Amino acid sequence: RSRKQQENLSASMRKSHPTPTPFTYPSEQWGLELEMQSDFRLYYQPIVALDTGRISGFEALVRWYHPTRGMVSPVDFIPLAEETGLIMDLGDWILQTACYQLREWQSKFPHGLEVTMVVNLSSLQLHNPHLVSQIQQLLDEMNLDNRYLKLEITESGLMENEEIALDLLRTMREAGIQLSIDDFGTGYSSLARLHNLPVNTLKIDKSFLQRTTFDHESWEIIETIIILAHKLGLTVVAEGIETGDQFELLQRLNCDYGQGYWLSRPMDASGATALLAKNPQW
Ligand code: C2E
Ligand code: MG
Ligand code: MG
Ligand code: MG
Repeated sequence: RSRKQQENLSASMRKSHPTPTPFTYPSEQWGLELEMQSDFRLYYQPIVALDTGRISGFEALVRWYHPTRGMVSPVDFIPLAEETGLIMDLGDWILQTACYQLREWQSKFPHGLEVTMVVNLSSLQLHNPHLVSQIQQLLDEMNLDNRYLKLEITESGLMENEEIALDLLRTMREAGIQLSIDDFGTGYSSLARLHNLPVNTLKIDKSFLQRTTFDHESWEIIETIIILAHKLGLTVVAEGIETGDQFELLQRLNCDYGQGYWLSRPMDASGATALLAKNPQW
């Protein structure tokens, strides 16, 4: 994309970005107000236990609807939001909206809903010294148990900010918030560092699966990551499962969880709610 186009996109992002709204839950309008002010929406993609088929969580994925451009991919606007600093407010909004949605689900399905809300954090958000206390306040206000929130940080984001990140992750872990390393295998973390990271889960980057149809080596890498993760006491999520063959192979390799179009595409809130409603035992 050209510099000029980027500038235009930044300018329109600034304009359409919601002005930070004070947090007023349990006001019924809270979620709606934000929705009307902004062109941002969260979609939710199920993360499924490969042995039982149970939905273990939903990953919140942000979408931006531009009045003339239509849907802009987060791959394009997250880097812009990071460049402009908007990621801080947008990141807060994402956390609030995701927790609000989870609150709604837990209220709607009060009998044993064990679904986790998974939220991506930009590595820039790790620089907010109040992040943990803000998240704790949010969870308290929503009356959500900390263990139902899982935060994803990419492997590269983590390694670029190792000092800050480690402290922060430890504090989160102590608070009982779950943590995943996203896009694992694309960064440059050494195994020695991995051992010290206070996380629960490794998420194997989808690029490994995308290469696997004819590629034996990629499968060996995936198998190795799964074995390594299990040895370190971590669970593994494979992202980007697009075929039944991939699903079966991952099952055979003892991968714990999967996510991908073959299981379910990301859905809007009402789609995800309908899916939850289909099975009272989720
Ligand atoms: P990610 O966190 O690794 O999210 C997984 C991406 O893979 C999502 O793309 C999802 O729609 C896509 N995906 C899921 N299943 C499949 C599949 O079977 N095949 C293929 N080819 N793709 C699949 P999406 O929603 O476009 O998001 C892209 C990236 O943008 C995310 O990668 C994440 O890094 C970033 N992102 C998305 N939402 C947020 C957010 O709320 N905050 C932050 N900081 N970053 C976000
Ligand atoms: Mg993610
Ligand atoms: Mg990923
Ligand atoms: Mg990714």
